[in-house]
Amino acid sequence: MTKPDLDDGPLESVRFTGLKPGPKLIVLGAVHGNEPCGPTAIRRAIEDCRSGSLKILRGEVTFVPVANPKAWRQKTREGDRNLNRDLREKPLASDYEDRIGNHLCALLRQHDALLDIHSFRGEGEPFVFFGPDDNRGELEPFARADEEAALASCLGVAIGIHGWLDNYTKLLAIRARLDLPRLSITEGYGTTEFMRFAGGYAVTLECGTHDDPQAAEIGHVAIRNTLAQLQLIEAPKPAAALRDVIEMVEILLCEQAGDAAEGPWRTGDAVPAGAIIARRADGAPVTAPRDGFVIFPNKAPKLGEAICHFGIAAKRGSGQRSSS
Ligand SMILES: [Zn+2]
Repeated sequence: MTKPDLDDGPLESVRFTGLKPGPKLIVLGAVHGNEPCGPTAIRRAIEDCRSGSLKILRGEVTFVPVANPKAWRQKTREGDRNLNRDLREKPLASDYEDRIGNHLCALLRQHDALLDIHSFRGEGEPFVFFGPDDNRGELEPFARADEEAALASCLGVAIGIHGWLDNYTKLLAIRARLDLPRLSITEGYGTTEFMRFAGGYAVTLECGTHDDPQAAEIGHVAIRNTLAQLQLIEAPKPAAALRDVIEMVEILLCEQAGDAAEGPWRTGDAVPAGAIIARRADGAPVTAPRDGFVIFPNKAPKLGEAICHFGIAAKRGSGQRSSS
């Protein structure tokens, strides 16, 4: 039997090594195959490095324009499954994303910092996802929060969101209550979570709507800013751009077919307490539990998927630390 997945082409990475010591950065595009901004921005950055308009002097940068070649070829979000879930090393690969994931994990382990470039469905302002505060907890122990906050702040986008994995445990609890198939917490692990597990730090940049040509421009600026922030190139450190930092604190799940997000809200939009953000299939409205923000509203979720996440203004990660 043929395995066409294995013919989906090699995983391409392009590396520039400075001759002076410095941090090792990896930049990923197209973890999801229907998000062209990453490949476009990364290929431009590769050309910049080749032409000398970006001169890598210190450390190392590895560009992976297309992290999921099968999904990219298909122009779909996923190949066999979402590469940005359950990303970890698997000695016995059972699908395409397991196979590509093993190689991606090996690459991530060679680096200190990850910039993962994405876009989203629907309208909304670009934003950056980052990770937890320094902590010694069980879920996501971490010791590089200051470096990560500085990276998130330098990219050029005004909205930062954190609390993904904590919120994911709430999704698992609701699924358990609804008697839906159990998911492991590792399902919540994507590129950034694996990178933190492997000792690095990482951000996910969401550059805007999938097909907005401006999204690639935002990605390209973010790459240049990151190279300056880490001083891989000789350039002033970028000004901190984060204005609103949002902590994800709740998740609304589709508990029966017909539950859906409602209203004009886009990711990052502020909503007042009591505003209708979703409606259950029986017509009952779901309102914002307090003043906060809507994240990833979905007007056609499947059973057990998120209708939307809900966040509040966060105290941390204001970006002030980036100047240090
Ligand atoms: Zn994506």
